[in-house]
Amino acid sequence: MKIIMLGAPGAGKGTQAKKIAEKYSVPHISTGDIFRSNIKNGTELGMKAKAFMDQGLLVPDELTCDLVVDRIGQDDCKNGYILDGFPRTIPQAEALNTALKSMGTSIDYAIDVEVQDSHIVNRMSGRRACTGCGATYHVKYNAPKAENICDACGEALVLRDDDKPETVQKRLTVYHDQTQPLIDYYKKAGVLRTVDGTLDMEDVFSAIIAILGE
Ligand code: ADP
Ligand code: AMP
Repeated sequence: MKIIMLGAPGAGKGTQAKKIAEKYSVPHISTGDIFRSNIKNGTELGMKAKAFMDQGLLVPDELTCDLVVDRIGQDDCKNGYILDGFPRTIPQAEALNTALKSMGTSIDYAIDVEVQDSHIVNRMSGRRACTGCGATYHVKYNAPKAENICDACGEALVLRDDDKPETVQKRLTVYHDQTQPLIDYYKKAGVLRTVDGTLDMEDVFSAIIAILGE
């Protein structure tokens, strides 16, 4: 099962991708997580990516595509995977398509988690990310048991720099310009499915299970 999660920043792609990965036993591949882990480890890729991420811009395709193509070629991806945050541009979708074709395969589902812009700033300003394991919470909708402490690993939770309102606005503009065209791209490919991302997390997940099957 090869799945792409589409949707605006903060729509709930990561939240649902984790649940899907667990239920269907496929790896969850988040390009945002890969970049953040590179930043944390001080790699050259991390330093390059950070300059774009801090401004709410996309990391250039040439730093992103090969990374994902390498990752989906690894052994644990043989039975499928869930791509969260990739592709984000038409050239990324085309690079993925070319790589999949050469492996004799294709994407099964592109799930668009639909949330209007008016909800997004609220979602993002309440998001808290773990500095240790990357787990994500929301102060209101998915609060940790102890304030600002990760339930999973006990490390501190922080508001990501790029979740501050001024950067969120920029990320939304970038989303509409560069990523939203992918909805049409995957509709034409016949694999687009849409879920209402404004529902409760569990209801969004039920809608996804109805698409993917039990
Ligand atoms: P994305 O991966 O699309 O950027 P996240 O999955 O990190 O988005 O979700 C953004 C924020 O909204 C997080 O704080 C998350 O806990 C919260 N969230 C996710 N899905 C829902 C939902 N259905 N209802 C309310 N809050 C949600
Ligand atoms: P995310 O965790 O998916 O919200 O991603 C955080 C940031 O990482 C984005 O705002 C981009 O700057 C960068 N990023 C993640 N995935 C991609 C991608 N596929 N292409 C370009 N930039 C990306």
